[in-house]
Amino acid sequence: MTRRSDGDELALRCLMAIQEALRGAEAELGRLDSVAGDGDHGSGMVRGIEAAVRAAETAAPGVTPDDESLLERAGSAFLDAAGGSSGALYGTLCRVLGAELRRGAGPASAVAAGLQAIMDLGGAKPGDKTMVDTLAPFVEVLLEAHDRGGGLAASLPVAQRAAQDGAASTAAMVPRRGRASRLGDRSVGSVDPGAESMLMIIEAVAGVLAFGLAGSDLPA
Ligand code: ADP
Ligand code: MG
Repeated sequence: MTRRSDGDELALRCLMAIQEALRGAEAELGRLDSVAGDGDHGSGMVRGIEAAVRAAETAAPGVTPDDESLLERAGSAFLDAAGGSSGALYGTLCRVLGAELRRGAGPASAVAAGLQAIMDLGGAKPGDKTMVDTLAPFVEVLLEAHDRGGGLAASLPVAQRAAQDGAASTAAMVPRRGRASRLGDRSVGSVDPGAESMLMIIEAVAGVLAFGLAGSDLPA
């Protein structure tokens, strides 16, 4: 088998870090989802990431620029295995990220395209008490840093704090999208499960990147 590219190797390390985080958070994500949803968010996310890592580990490296990347294949596997709304949304996020990076986009614009794809697919806006409330402020900080010519290593910790604040802010919100919206006020006071899993994913990826980016000034 041909050797993985450095980008694919980094993507696989990120997926494995997400796997570890989600395995540890399965019960907590299920508990959050049982407040106003059906309690399956933890189990769905673990099923999805297990399939995504398996697909990534066994993916043969793309040979031509048109070949699907490791992240795109992992995204499809996540989508198929996880099921539920979040399976489709996270699977799509991973596929769009992979496609954008394969076409040479920088990290900030690739994640911004992923956010847009989630909003297009699910129809959620910031304030609707979903995973968008974590990802949107994260993307905003990365895009600002990129526009200023800032580096990724310096902007990631700031973006991570914005994501933490965004996830925490969902506790006060009334859900307007997805299953939880049917029970309205019941989840007020409790963080949205998808906002929490998005934060865990961002933190896992940032941890891998912080290690890989130490001392580098790669643009955001
Ligand atoms: P399901 O609701 O199908 O059981 P999950 O429990 O796995 O799916 O995921 C629920 C999470 O998915 C919610 O907490 C929310 O963050 C996210 N979600 C659901 N619907 C949408 C949507 N239309 N747009 C954005 N995020 C959504
Ligand atoms: Mg659910």
